[in-house]
Amino acid sequence: MPKKPLQEGSREAIYILTLPVGYRKMLSQSLSGECAPRSAIKAKCLSCTNFNKLEITECRCSICPLWRYRPYQVTTKVKRAKKAVVEAVLTTE
Ligand code: SF4
Repeated sequence: MPKKPLQEGSREAIYILTLPVGYRKMLSQSLSGECAPRSAIKAKCLSCTNFNKLEITECRCSICPLWRYRPYQVTTKVKRAKKAVVEAVLTTE
């Protein structure tokens, strides 16, 4: 992807100014083509959920082309660990 710095006063540059400060750099790099595709996906999901990571984890929009690639997914390993904890609690009661 060719890099194209954001021009001052452009639609993209104005959009960046409306974002939470902590996310401006990521979104700016994404819009200007200065980041990896994985980071661009993360930026899209964050902007889609108004920067709510939990909403990305719980996103149910499986028809979204980015859904299988979205960040903050609960891995199978974590799911198994949670299930084991629940089963351990239930068996001790
Ligand atoms: S995967 Fe979900 S959070 Fe990410 S862009 Fe698609 S709908 Fe939005």
